[in-house]
Amino acid sequence: MSLLQVRDLGKSFGGNRAVDGVSFSVAKGELLALIGPNGAGKSTTFNMVNGQLRADTGSITLDGAELIGRKPRDIWRLGVGRTFQIAETFASLTVAENVQMALLSADAQLFSLWKRAAAHKRGEALALLEQVGMAAQADRACSVLAYGDVKRVELAIALANGPRLLLMDEPTAGMAPKERNELMALTKRLVAERGLAVLFTEHSMDVVFAFADRMIVLARGRLIAQGKPAHIRDDSQVQAVYFGSGKTFEKASA
Ligand code: ADP
Ligand code: MG
Repeated sequence: MSLLQVRDLGKSFGGNRAVDGVSFSVAKGELLALIGPNGAGKSTTFNMVNGQLRADTGSITLDGAELIGRKPRDIWRLGVGRTFQIAETFASLTVAENVQMALLSADAQLFSLWKRAAAHKRGEALALLEQVGMAAQADRACSVLAYGDVKRVELAIALANGPRLLLMDEPTAGMAPKERNELMALTKRLVAERGLAVLFTEHSMDVVFAFADRMIVLARGRLIAQGKPAHIRDDSQVQAVYFGSGKTFEKASA
């Protein structure tokens, strides 16, 4: 059975139907890509799943539990994680300290107490950093890391709460092709090792075709195709959306 079930999801902003009757599911151990042109409704869909936006219509269930109407923090506690940019948080802290912070907040302890309490979490933080290949850089400040390494730390932070479903909105934005591939290969390994389910948006079609188990395509709030990447590549409606906006899959991945 699917871990996440989304049915007839809808959200309007004024008269604009940002998400319009979207249904899909994500299974345990599955890496599902959500693609579509700018404004297609990808972020809006994400934000309804994580509770930051309230859906107008439809249903979102995690392992059978309805998420619509719950607070973001409760949805996070139920096992829906997402990646945050470290720039938004604590660039001056070291790699390990950033992950220790996340572990503390997973334990619902106060941020203000972290310096005293963090010592207890160092071992756990290092174990998580080991999984993303960043243990050797644990004591460097995040502000001095290479961009791709920051993204690895962000992934470790997102894993601190032991999520069952991980949401990644444009995880490889701003990355060079080599870094992108490394991050997605790492994500795919974590999906396999932890039985994690991942829903991610991505601009690079190369990444989607190389790493996604399945993909769904949104255009103007509607789901226009879903299936295996090889199948979607040949879908005429999908081709039209990309060619129609002056983009081919090749150009879209530039
Ligand atoms: P994507 O992530 O696929 O680029 P979005 O989900 O961000 O698309 O946006 C879908 C549509 O909803 C767009 O037309 C966008 O302008 C609109 N939209 C998104 N968020 C808001 C908001 N907070 N208020 C008003 N309109 C919004
Ligand atoms: Mg977006």
